[in-house]
Amino acid sequence: MKCPVCKNGETKKGKVVVTLSKDEFITVYRNVPADICQNCGEEFVDSSVARSLLELSTETYQKGVIVDIRDYRAA
Ligand SMILES: [Zn+2]
Repeated sequence: MKCPVCKNGETKKGKVVVTLSKDEFITVYRNVPADICQNCGEEFVDSSVARSLLELSTETYQKGVIVDIRDYRAA
């Protein structure tokens, strides 16, 4: 797709690292599928993927894990 940020580049499917934080808690997900702009480097994570990352990180916070790094796996 055309990049909505720079309006110049084309996005390409790739994998990104997403970091979520809340208070002192940090969760890092690797290998998250995303569309990446070849021009400006902006990353676009699918809304369903973003939602599942938020749910996963909330579970992690509730367990009291301060820092968590994991590979993302589609449900
Ligand atoms: Zn762009």
